[in-house]
Amino acid sequence: MSDPIREAIAAGRPTVEGAGWQDDIHAIIKRFATPSLYLNLSVSEKMRKELVRYYAKELVAQANLAGLRTAKPILRDIGSPITAVRGRALRELNGWTANAVKAFQEELNLAHVTLRGETRVAFFRAKRDVAGFGNADRKQLASDLAKASKADMAAKTKGYNRIRSARTKLAKAEKVGNTVTVKAARVELLKAKAAVKKTDDLLGRFEKAVQASARDGARRQMAAAQKAQYQQSLGKDVKRYWVTVNGSQACPTCEDRHMLLVPDETGGEPGSGQTYCGASCQCHAVPKIHLDGTPIPKPIVA
Ligand SMILES: [Zn+2]
Ligand SMILES: [Zn+2]
Repeated sequence: MSDPIREAIAAGRPTVEGAGWQDDIHAIIKRFATPSLYLNLSVSEKMRKELVRYYAKELVAQANLAGLRTAKPILRDIGSPITAVRGRALRELNGWTANAVKAFQEELNLAHVTLRGETRVAFFRAKRDVAGFGNADRKQLASDLAKASKADMAAKTKGYNRIRSARTKLAKAEKVGNTVTVKAARVELLKAKAAVKKTDDLLGRFEKAVQASARDGARRQMAAAQKAQYQQSLGKDVKRYWVTVNGSQACPTCEDRHMLLVPDETGGEPGSGQTYCGASCQCHAVPKIHLDGTPIPKPIVA
């Protein structure tokens, strides 16, 4: 396997996987973990607006940059002039972006409806269980819910810090290349991730749903930007092939797609959700012209 492909794929890996945006979404939701969130609908509307704004302005921009960056080493390798995306390719990318923001907004609305529904259920349960449940008790309950959320949010913040430091350690270990250290760092990262999943109240579940759609959206946006860059440099009909990364850990649905034509033979772009791994997919759609000289018979073990 050629080094340029390895480099390109490695460059793409940390981009949407990083804990940074996860932290940002967490911070937004944490800011609204107050009793008024459970009593006053306009507060949760604000939270929703803030999340969409963050997604559209920050996360999509980061994903675009990541996509363009991962395309560059391959374009450089085949001697294609590296240009900014413009013209038709840019229009297509912009259209894609607008739809991606809309889709995120829709998913967020659904998660939000669920959050409000669950909050109502919690109130009705309390009303059933507590004798003389009145307005004052309603406030008390809201404050209890908010307290639980705050505790959950604090635990999550701790968890994210652990994930971030595990990621830094893994990156360092990978640079040095000591297999034992790398393995230990990977185990710690998995443990850190598992620990975060354990803190789940109403707002925690909402956050999980928002983060899942944000991550999916960012991964797709990255693939769209990469595709736009290839189309800009190599023409609208550039043929791209699915290159499966992390061979030994690749899910079977990605393994099956290795070296198939994207999207005709694969049913979609890498990370667009048609594989078992969904948005966690780290595969790439690489232009055929790049693979002609360096065929990759098996999935790449990164
Ligand atoms: Zn997969
Ligand atoms: Zn994959």
